[in-house]
Amino acid sequence: MTFLEATGQLKTFYLGTAVSVGGAILMTIGLRAGESAAWVIDPISLALFGIVLGIGGFTWLCFALKCPKCRTRILWNAAAHGSTNFIADALFSPKCAVCGYQPK
Ligand SMILES: [Zn+2]
Repeated sequence: MTFLEATGQLKTFYLGTAVSVGGAILMTIGLRAGESAAWVIDPISLALFGIVLGIGGFTWLCFALKCPKCRTRILWNAAAHGSTNFIADALFSPKCAVCGYQPK
């Protein structure tokens, strides 16, 4: 069992990821629509909204996922230490990288 599963934070992770991916999709739609289509909302606004949503979702994840013992922000900590694959590290590690807490 991974740390996020064991600490009940997997749903938080999925939610934040879904928001980020949704933002990226909106951004892509907005950018690809360009000036051509007669849209209900301005494509540039849609793209900007997508960017804000994408960055916001990821930032929220960085702050929301915490070790219940030492309160370390798991994703933030992994990113700050410059691991190239920090998301995978944060997801699949069975214990906290800082205090070594391993939930049962
Ligand atoms: Zn910890």
